[in-house]
Amino acid sequence: MISNDNKDKYDLKAELERNIKTVDELEEYISLTDEEKESLKEIVRLHPMSITRFYMSLIDPNDKDDPIRRIAVPTDQEFSQGGLYDTSGEKDNTVTVGVQHKYKQTALVLLTHRCSVYCRFCFRKRLVGRSESEIISNIDQARDYIAEHEEITNVLLSGGDPLVLENNIIEHFLKTFLEIDHINFVRIGTRIPIVLPQRIYEDQELQELFKKYSKPEKRVHIVTHFNHPKEINEHSIKAVDTMIRCGMPVHNQTVLLGGVNDDPMVMVDLMRNLVRIGVNPYYVFQCRPVRRALHFQVPISRGIDIIEEARKYLCGISKRFKYAMSHRRGKIEIIAKDENYMYFKQHQAKDVSKLGEFFKVPLDENLAWLEDLE
Ligand code: SF4
Repeated sequence: MISNDNKDKYDLKAELERNIKTVDELEEYISLTDEEKESLKEIVRLHPMSITRFYMSLIDPNDKDDPIRRIAVPTDQEFSQGGLYDTSGEKDNTVTVGVQHKYKQTALVLLTHRCSVYCRFCFRKRLVGRSESEIISNIDQARDYIAEHEEITNVLLSGGDPLVLENNIIEHFLKTFLEIDHINFVRIGTRIPIVLPQRIYEDQELQELFKKYSKPEKRVHIVTHFNHPKEINEHSIKAVDTMIRCGMPVHNQTVLLGGVNDDPMVMVDLMRNLVRIGVNPYYVFQCRPVRRALHFQVPISRGIDIIEEARKYLCGISKRFKYAMSHRRGKIEIIAKDENYMYFKQHQAKDVSKLGEFFKVPLDENLAWLEDLE
């Protein structure tokens, strides 16, 4: 185990305690009307707010439409009804508390319900900052399930954000899952390189841990989540560089978000710069119909226009991402449209007989999600 008395240990707990969590703290950075303050207090009671001081510093206080502000600061649009808290049937895929087995090869483990920033569009809004009921409580049970299912080749550590946990806890999870023979690699899903990059490049103990577990024959991969070019700055670049130097391939998934990145040239800027700093564009996800986050959804037809236009300006490496939706039926690639239809392909599926299936849906300019595909 990595020693706990390392002098270079980064004080994560102290840093997270400085997060902006109340409307009064928020007012130190951006001006709010009395009416806004009252509604924000109500929203924060429903879904907590938490913003690192670093991420807050990226917001232009004079721009109400600042994309970082839209991602992190609540608005009264969250009062809207409709949508679902579990949009892709995570409950049905749960095999033991905190472990989901939706796709044959992948086990998803929920390590924590906490994050360093609570993104307002989050598809796990039902639990982030609110409930530990879906978080792993028995690692031995999880290990036994994965060990007994040899078809599982990789484990995705998620949550919440696994990198808000103490280093020795992260190490315990990595060690446990990497020791299973048929596990080829472990992925960590995290926004820390973007919202608290100092946690990566200042914490030497964490870096030692990454180097120890990401081996040439079995890698730890990072799946991070940049949504806007403003998130690529000297600090996040340093965090990405640190992770690469620790031997971890870094991939990115973006969510197509209204008012944040629903513009072809913003996508071009994002993808070009991700590749520039060594991050592989992996997915652009259609925003799910999440309760209290419906205002972020962009209709699929417009999404196709945005992505196709962006692709015209991108080289092969920067446009190799798939535009997809993580649906109850699996991952569905959104391919194209014509005057009459929109075209899709089943990219991942719980029911393997559906894999690769190609289908079309009548063109509807307002449609933002595929409901019941049966
Ligand atoms: S960091 Fe990820 S899990 Fe946490 S709130 Fe943001 S999108 Fe959700």
